[in-house]
Amino acid sequence: MGKDLGILRETVIEFSESDYWEEAIAEWDILDCSIDDRMKEICICGHEGLRYCFSIQNRYNNNILYPIGSSCILQFGRNDLKQTVGIYTQLFHIRTKYYNSEKITIKDFSRKLLQFFWDEDIFEANRYNHFNPENDYSFLLQMFNQRSEPTNRQQLKINAIIVNSIIPYIQQMES
Ligand SMILES: [Zn+2]
Repeated sequence: MGKDLGILRETVIEFSESDYWEEAIAEWDILDCSIDDRMKEICICGHEGLRYCFSIQNRYNNNILYPIGSSCILQFGRNDLKQTVGIYTQLFHIRTKYYNSEKITIKDFSRKLLQFFWDEDIFEANRYNHFNPENDYSFLLQMFNQRSEPTNRQQLKINAIIVNSIIPYIQQMES
């Protein structure tokens, strides 16, 4: 890990404006993430077998570094990046449950993940939401905030949104 950390820092600094790690770490944002289940990708630190391949972009020179693993992003020591990685981790958890045919419940979500879905514009306009995708976002948020378990009818609606909007979004992340 010590050696990998050296490669990570050198690479980040090379593509940053600053020549100092402590400053360079402030220049980057998470752009997106793709999923490689064959785990053929190699992190910019040299670590092999990457499944969740993030790309990060420099705010000042627009350089993009790809692929970078979540553990290397956490090396930046920034809370905002840690939060974003956490949101993606929830998303991957939902994906894994879906492929394992496990029941996905509203508790697998979080307010931040729902906000992420809304920001990413993933909700499909369809006749069920009266062609207003915001209805789906509000509904999931309401279900998340509700203390009691969803009724059967509500759970069916949750499942429909997962299948119609969330799973297609996850699938387009797969390379
Ligand atoms: Zn790495």
